[in-house]
Amino acid sequence: MILVFNWKMNPEKLSDAEAILDFLRFAQDKLKKTCTETQSVEVWFAPPNLYFEPLRKKYNEFFDFGLQNTFYEQSGAFTGEISPKMAKNIGVEFVILGHSERKKLGESLEDINKKVLASLEVGLRVILCFGENVKLKSRENIIFEIKSQLKILLQDVPINSENLYLAYEPAWAISSQEIGPSSTEELKTFLDWYWQNYKFPIFYGGSVDSSNIENYLTLKLNGFLIGSASLKPEEITKILNIASK
Ligand code: PEP
Repeated sequence: MILVFNWKMNPEKLSDAEAILDFLRFAQDKLKKTCTETQSVEVWFAPPNLYFEPLRKKYNEFFDFGLQNTFYEQSGAFTGEISPKMAKNIGVEFVILGHSERKKLGESLEDINKKVLASLEVGLRVILCFGENVKLKSRENIIFEIKSQLKILLQDVPINSENLYLAYEPAWAISSQEIGPSSTEELKTFLDWYWQNYKFPIFYGGSVDSSNIENYLTLKLNGFLIGSASLKPEEITKILNIASK
């Protein structure tokens, strides 16, 4: 079971980020044991880029650290971008690509596909996000939408890519106050279809927290991508305890 905590553009200060990780390290005696000895739960953090290196240096022994995005070229005149090769060289272990919040900013499926290929090429682990944009409750609509997204996102990606993880994140379920996360039945229906068609490990994301993660633990999922709850150390501790039972 892999728990990936996506901090999005938070917290405001590096010291706040350290406070969260210190809490987890010291308050949760079993954490190190749980994470590194039994291997039952792996904990990965995706902080903002600026915090990556100081956090990795300090907490490398406890957690894996990755980025929330990388570019599709390995070097050159691309102001403001970070290449997968640079990320790999500095010790980045994984990258989240195609998050729905980035799609809202204009990232296209074609660009995400190029990013996936470039990151896999240098040996980064990739968490590739996908999911329907609007609340489509009928199974046929969701499957049709997802199939067409994955066709583009996975173009030229070898089906035996060991470093590729998919993350099903319905956009309507992300940080959602009104609609909330997928129901267990919705997710099960999706997973039945998924495993008939794909072999990559699959995570779920969308308002997962300590009040609902247990519902999903019986499903055929390899992990979770968790946003809002990942800034609350007590909440993370609860999630870890539930997931490692
Ligand atoms: C995410 O950021 O990928 C995510 C699933 O966020 P949240 O848990 O807040 O819905």
